[in-house]
This record gives sequence, structure tokens and C-alpha cells, in this order.
Amino acid sequence: MSSTVLIIGAGAAGLMAARELSARGHAVTILEARNRAGGRMHTIHSTAFTVPVESGAEFVHGKLPLTFQLLAEAGIGHTPVEGRMIEVRKGRWHRQNQFIEGWDTLMEHLQSLQQDMTVREFLDRHFQEPRYEELRRSVQRFAEGYDGADINKASVLALRNEWEKEETEQYHITGGYERLTDYLITQCVRQRCSLHFNTPVQRISWQQGRVEVTTGDERSFTADKVIITVPLGVWQQAHDKSNIDVVPAIDQQLAAFRQIGFSAVIKVSLEFKQPFWQEYEKELGFIFSEEIFPTWWTQLPHPVPLLTGWINGPQAISFAQTSPEKMLQYALYSLAGIFGLPLVFLEQQLVASHITDWGADPFSLGAYSYDMLSSKAARQFLQQPVAGTLFFAGEALYEGAHPGTVEAALASGAAVAAKLMGSLANT
Ligand SMILES: Cc1cc2nc3c(=O)[nH]c(=O)nc-3n(C[C@H](O)[C@H](O)[C@H](O)COP(=O)(O)OP(=O)(O)OC[C@H]3O[C@@H](n4cnc5c(N)ncnc54)[C@H](O)[C@@H]3O)c2cc1C
Repeated sequence: MSSTVLIIGAGAAGLMAARELSARGHAVTILEARNRAGGRMHTIHSTAFTVPVESGAEFVHGKLPLTFQLLAEAGIGHTPVEGRMIEVRKGRWHRQNQFIEGWDTLMEHLQSLQQDMTVREFLDRHFQEPRYEELRRSVQRFAEGYDGADINKASVLALRNEWEKEETEQYHITGGYERLTDYLITQCVRQRCSLHFNTPVQRISWQQGRVEVTTGDERSFTADKVIITVPLGVWQQAHDKSNIDVVPAIDQQLAAFRQIGFSAVIKVSLEFKQPFWQEYEKELGFIFSEEIFPTWWTQLPHPVPLLTGWINGPQAISFAQTSPEKMLQYALYSLAGIFGLPLVFLEQQLVASHITDWGADPFSLGAYSYDMLSSKAARQFLQQPVAGTLFFAGEALYEGAHPGTVEAALASGAAVAAKLMGSLANT
């Protein structure tokens, strides 16, 4: 039995769901607010840069099954990320993976943990003593920098699961994530999906088996079912209301969306005349520091003189309302502090810059999800369709070992498509 399906959002989850459904004969219409597909995958081409720049997702965090399957299908290459990890503390450079007092005890406590608590509670309970200061800082830096998590809210069990399953190798996609987006789009179009850009959905009116969606410019689309893949930030916009008006209201679902953590990221890409950092460390990969932009990375093994800076989590949120010009200044101050170089030298070396504040992007309003204490239950609730008609998907609804990634979004898109088709088989 085939049906008509509206999909809101042309990111990884929406495109994957569209590809699966259209391959099996369902009539799919995708409505996307922006003038492009990809959502939080966004490869920028600017003549100011000598290479394409990733303003959103950049790495593939391990040999992730769906991502690698699509890359293989599409014939897109990938390169392992290389380079040393450096930690800069009080102006001194340290190679990472040096011994941190208490790390083994931390792992033991994590292993034996039965009941969930926040990361802050866990650290306070077991690692109060001054000798664990460095350990506390490392855990906080990991939770904030990598997951974008607020340690006062983040689940320590989720952090443990992530550490247990963490892949060591990371990859860059040749030509960027845009190529994955293009591949999915080509497939969807070939399978006769209809795709509408510049179409922000404002209202979803529904009853069982029937949906009417109204857009910002007053157009309306109807279908049997809808899959909504908008990011968590869009759902969490206000305390009692989301950016999209759903009629009749879905208050329980909105409350559940607020039980999942959502980070914010400010990402800056800076191209310089020369890779001046090679004088400090020839094989420089990642830098972790105490500066405003604490995290930086190079493009090794590619020799392009590009540095990417990153602020995540509560710190990124604290810079809401800060202008891109000011953020660029902060980025350069940060590099001046890390390398002990005069600001004027960096300004003279700078060729191109690009800053994206994902927390300020109206169709994202944040970067990616992390687990708080009741996130798992909320997610399971949201994975259930409303009256067999409203389906939800996106990276935040993924259950598995690679949360907050493109893989998570692809898997969620595939899962929701299977669920929708399963519901048709049962009617
Ligand atoms: C800075 C940054 C770095 C990241 N780095 C990595 C990384 O290195 N590796 C990795 O695997 N993952 C990374 N991620 C996470 C990854 O990008 C996301 O998990 C994934 O792309 C999310 O896909 P999605 O389909 O769930 O959501 P999205 O890609 O956000 O797609 C949702 C779509 O809905 C659209 N939309 C929103 N509101 C409306 C509306 N009202 N009407 C119509 N359409 C609407 C949006 O425009 C968007 O296109 C990163 C994310 C960010 C922000």
C-alpha cells in the first residue's frame, strides 16, 4: 500500500527518509526552509578560500555503517585525519595523553555506576579533592567541547556509553559533506520526490490519516502523513510553544523535546598565507587550550594553511548576540595567546575568514543533541508516531552508539521510514 508523505527538512534525516520511502513507491514531497539542502551539513565555497570549508559537520567519527555505505555507493572518497593533539595550559604546550591523576579511578567508578546522575554530581561525589582538579577539568572539557553538554544537566551514563564506544580514527570526506547531500538529493529526485526550497513550514493541521501544512508564504500542502525532521532548537524555541504551530497541539511531545539537551557551536575557519603553526609543531592536528576559542584543528594530512576554531556548549551560548566581527577578533586573540604571537602578525597573515554561530541560525537554533537524565525516555516517546500520522526524526531521536552525528541523523531517517511503512502494512 503506498501513501503520500510530506517530509519537513532536507537535512540528512529528511533526505534519508525520502530516499527510502520513494524507493518503495511512496509519493514524497520535501519542504525545506532554506535555499539549500543538507541542514547542518554545509560545505561553503568562497573564492576567498583556496578550499571548500565545512561550516557544520566536518568529520566522520569512525567507520560508521550508514555513512560509509553511502560513501561507497556514491564513490566518494575519505581521508583519515592526522596530526598530534596538543594541550596548551598557562602558555605551555603539552602533548596530550599524558598521565592525568585519577583517570583509572574515574573509569572504575564509571564502570560500576548503576544509577544515572549528572556529570557534575558524579564529579562532586567521587572527585572533590584538590588533587583531582586536572581530572575534573578534563572531564568537563570533554563533555563541553565534544558533546556541547552542560555538565549540570548531562547524563554521566550517556557519557560513559560514548567513551566505551568511541572510535579512535576520524575521517574527512573528499570534497566535503556536500557531496553526501548531493548524492542523496540526486537519488530522491531520480525516484520522483518533489523538493521545495525556501519553504519554511509555519503550521501543521492534522487529523488521523490527513495532514495540511502551511508555509510562511501561505502555500499549503496536503498528504496522508508527515515526517518532521526539524532540529531540537526549533522545537525548544519557547517554553510552551515551538516555531511550528501544530494543530491540534502536541503538548506532551513538546515537553519531551525539552527533555533532550541541545548544544550550541560557534565555528570559525581562518585561512592564512602560511601554515605558521608548523614552526611550533610540524604535525599539528588538534589544540585544546584555555582561550576564548579553546579548540583548534588543522587539515592534516592536507597541507592547506587553514585553522578551524570551535566554541561549544555553555560557552557558545554565552556569546549569543556577539557580532561576527567581534567573534573574529576573539578568534585571533585566542591564536595570539596559544602561539604567543602579536595580533598584528596574525592579522597580516589572515587571508580569509568565515564564522557560523549555529545557535543564532533560525532553522537550527543550536548544534546537536546530548543526553540529560530523562532524555532516553523522552526519545522513546517521540519515536512513536502521533495517531499514525505525525512522525518525528532527526539526529536527536537516534538511539545508538554515535549520537549527535550525521550517522545518527541518517539512521533516524531510515528508521522513521521503516516505521511509517510498517504502520501502513498494519492498516
Ligand atoms: C558546527 C557543527 C559541527 C558538527 N560536526 C559534526 C561532525 O564533525 N560529524 C558529524 O557526524 N556530525 C557533526 N555535526 C552534527 C550533524 O551535522 C547533525 O547531527 C546532522 O547533520 C543533523 O541532521 P538532521 O537531518 O537531523 O538535521 P538538520 O541537518 O538540521 O536538518 C533539518 C532541516 O530542517 C530544516 N528546517 C528547520 N525548520 C524548518 C521549517 N520550519 N520548515 C522547513 N524546514 C525547516 C532545516 O533548514 C534543515 O535543513 C555537527 C553539527 C554542527 C552544527
